[in-house]
Amino acid sequence: MKTKNQLIQSLKSYLAASKINTKGKSVKEKIVLIESDDWGAIRTPSAAAVKAFEQKGLEIAQSIYRNDALESQDDLELLFEVLSKHKGSDGQPAKMTANAIMANPDFDKIKASGYTEFHYEKFTDTFQKYPNHGNNLTLWKQGQSENIFQPQFHGREHLNYKRWLRVLQQKNEAALFCFDHNATYSGKEDYSFMEAYDWDSKDDIPEQIQVIEDGFRIFKDTFGETSKSFIAPCYNWDPMIEPALKNQGVTWLQGISSQLVPTGVFDRYDPIRHRFAEENHLGLRYNVRNCIFEPSMNQQRDWVNSCLAQVASAFHWNKPAVICAHRINFVGYIDPKNRDRGLKDLDVLLRSITKKWPDARFISTDQLDAFLN
Ligand SMILES: [Zn+2]
Repeated sequence: MKTKNQLIQSLKSYLAASKINTKGKSVKEKIVLIESDDWGAIRTPSAAAVKAFEQKGLEIAQSIYRNDALESQDDLELLFEVLSKHKGSDGQPAKMTANAIMANPDFDKIKASGYTEFHYEKFTDTFQKYPNHGNNLTLWKQGQSENIFQPQFHGREHLNYKRWLRVLQQKNEAALFCFDHNATYSGKEDYSFMEAYDWDSKDDIPEQIQVIEDGFRIFKDTFGETSKSFIAPCYNWDPMIEPALKNQGVTWLQGISSQLVPTGVFDRYDPIRHRFAEENHLGLRYNVRNCIFEPSMNQQRDWVNSCLAQVASAFHWNKPAVICAHRINFVGYIDPKNRDRGLKDLDVLLRSITKKWPDARFISTDQLDAFLN
């Protein structure tokens, strides 16, 4: 039995999702996608770094930097256990679209340049530098072959490195302190320069395109094929980069209901609304997230209850259930309690979905074409 609060929350979630779901194309079947961003990206490098940030007074308690970190082998293995347990109507397991970052800053080289040049290392090299991560790429590929973990392209680095370098050059104390702990954090104001394809001037766009092309090169070298979908860091991107995405073989743009187009000012965007499977002038289609599952963002909220209501709305309107569930929810490298909660809730969510909708099946975003009406 649901409590009164849960009923109210369900209703609110259902109605909010329905606002998105009434528009756009429909799909033939009940399909569930779990779109999970940030795999391969660093955030906070260790529990000791969290402590150092706290002692420095960097207000980390409410930040994603409190829990988010490069996923460890344990994190991947425990996540895979949960995904494999639940099967869709086609007998295939629950599948995550793992939106991945291809590179992280090379802190030593950047420092050696006096913070004037950006240098990166491939994400697979970062795996080798962390203590419980050396086998990560093998695990990713195992997840891919078991049909539970499908990497897609989220960016070369999850970083607006121009803005970050500028602040470092200005000798910003918090940014330099975090830099020395191998993190791009700098306190709560700037959102840690995560919006890689936001720009200060339109002149930044050609360089962004080069970065994207270089990122795709790493993706193809690593996985032997391109990424058919793309999700912009922080949902910020200019339509001017879309031809480059198309050239790389992208056919689907993942996102929330609005694309946040840069204006030249951080955190100020011109939203463009998109509907499911709408096709733009380049022939790229938009996939719209209509369900949210982010246990790490709020410990008190009943995420399973609200997400199930959103799935119900998606299916009512013949839309795919596209669940937004960032990597942070499944990371226990810094605090195992964070991962335990996320995985427990994911387990309940997947069990509830397969029980309530036995005809539903799980796919990744790159497979969407086959299901359009
Ligand atoms: Zn992201």
